[in-house]
Amino acid sequence: MNPGPFRRVLLKLSGDSFARLGERGISMDEVVHIARQTVQAASRGVQVAVVIGGGNILRGASFTAGNTGVQEATAHSMGMLATVINGLALQDALESVGAQTRLMTAIRMEGVAEPYIRRRAKRHLEKGRIVILAAGTGSPFVTTDTAAAQRSLELEADILMKATRVDGVYSDDPEKNPHAVLYRELTYQQVREQNLRVMDATAISQCMEHAMPILVFNYRKEGNIERAVAGEKIGTIIHSIVNRS
Ligand code: UDP
Repeated sequence: MNPGPFRRVLLKLSGDSFARLGERGISMDEVVHIARQTVQAASRGVQVAVVIGGGNILRGASFTAGNTGVQEATAHSMGMLATVINGLALQDALESVGAQTRLMTAIRMEGVAEPYIRRRAKRHLEKGRIVILAAGTGSPFVTTDTAAAQRSLELEADILMKATRVDGVYSDDPEKNPHAVLYRELTYQQVREQNLRVMDATAISQCMEHAMPILVFNYRKEGNIERAVAGEKIGTIIHSIVNRS
């Protein structure tokens, strides 16, 4: 099997991908489904690190907006802990389909997972383990998109792959506007200037500053994680220069 162009990828999964469409919480059927696709992709010989979100359980910003009596920083800590819950689910799902894994957290909790240490994470990846990175950056007021950008740089991934439930980056929300146009290729500058909904601004800036390519693709199409890892031209690629043929 052709291993494709990437040696190491960082896959960003949103918490929503762990819930049934339109629902919240965790559906292990969904988690195992994504786990199976991820293992299939990794079996091409590509090292895979996964940053997992927590939005299916709690997002700090929306939780504070809807509740008095909780400080925003506290709500963000709650959101980070939600990603650990998802990380534990993903770890068992991956192992149930035969993968070797490590769960690492940016907030120490040795009873359930290893602390995130960059060099140790790289070692695990080199040994072929799928490394799940939970608790975001460990700091409040950002999202797991920023954690994904940060970790992709630290771990020297070749690409950051953001799994979404639509086919890529559109001119408008495709779930609301049927005339929204799908872009195949964009520069970081275009994303910023046109305010396109890709990742939060901090994450885009970080990727732009260090020329980390971002692929936004639809994880709900069977086999797409493997296609993405194999370098097939799916989704939207965001990088410095537009040159996709
Ligand atoms: N979060 C945080 N710091 C981080 C990453 C996440 O405070 O470095 C909190 C933040 O409140 C966020 C929540 O954890 O809303 C869950 O993550 P996110 O919203 O990114 O999950 P996703 O949308 O990917 O499911």
